[in-house]
Amino acid sequence: MIRTRFAPSPTGSLHLGHAWSAIVAHDLARARGGEFLLRIEDIDPGRSRPDLVQEFRDDLAWLGLSSDGEPLVQSSRLATYAAAGERLKEMGLLFPCRCTRAEIAAAAVRQGPDGPIYPGTCRGRDVDPSGAAWRLDMVAASARAGPLTWHDERAGRQTATPEIFGDVVLLRKEAPASYHLAATIDDAASGVTLVTRGTDLFAATHVHRLLQALLGLPVPVWHHHLLILGAGGRKLSKTRDAPSLSARRRAGEDGLELAEALREGRLPAGLCFGESLERTA
Ligand code: GLU
Repeated sequence: MIRTRFAPSPTGSLHLGHAWSAIVAHDLARARGGEFLLRIEDIDPGRSRPDLVQEFRDDLAWLGLSSDGEPLVQSSRLATYAAAGERLKEMGLLFPCRCTRAEIAAAAVRQGPDGPIYPGTCRGRDVDPSGAAWRLDMVAASARAGPLTWHDERAGRQTATPEIFGDVVLLRKEAPASYHLAATIDDAASGVTLVTRGTDLFAATHVHRLLQALLGLPVPVWHHHLLILGAGGRKLSKTRDAPSLSARRRAGEDGLELAEALREGRLPAGLCFGESLERTA
């Protein structure tokens, strides 16, 4: 059975781009008699706002999107992410790193999908692990996994190239798991068979496919959908592009009509569907 999910981070109110993402996930599941799950990606303690969870649920109901079961809340699963991190450490694939963003930016020679590629400063060094971030040794991890492919419903068969990210952080100083680790583990734990999300996260899937291979997790199919773009082809932002779904809802707008308009490709003036030229979040 097909199972999809919508996985917002409660760091700000949802906007039209999130509505579109939720509609894609919901409609693909329902069209094939499957399930649509809601997951709350609240592992960033500094930025997550618990009060937004109910707002998100109300937004989905307003759009006419019913989800199956209780939402999975990532902050309740930290021990699971930590255990996966331990497994990767035991496999000798993680190393501690204490470099700051500024140090990495100054030393980096190449850009990756998420900004400057980590130049490998702490790899192979004796770094005090207390309070450090843990990075994946990408060369060792890729060698262990061997060649990998994955399938996107829109873009077709892909050869996994996680090395374009360099040694990604999997366990963070301030948060116990990175997006890559938590999302990969939870998609498997929830039995998600079709991972739907925007094309801005297309490249991240290379890393997720590698993590699935390393952790022995099932491999879903992906569907990276076009984004709703604002002025100048920029991604919509939670703070920049008013009004949020909750503001529209409170102003009395009809959510079912809005969802129908998006399905039919009718967007408010100034917005369009497209590929984002900005790098991933
Ligand atoms: N939490 C991510 C976001 O709000 C979505 C991650 C995903 O769908 O894999 O952009």
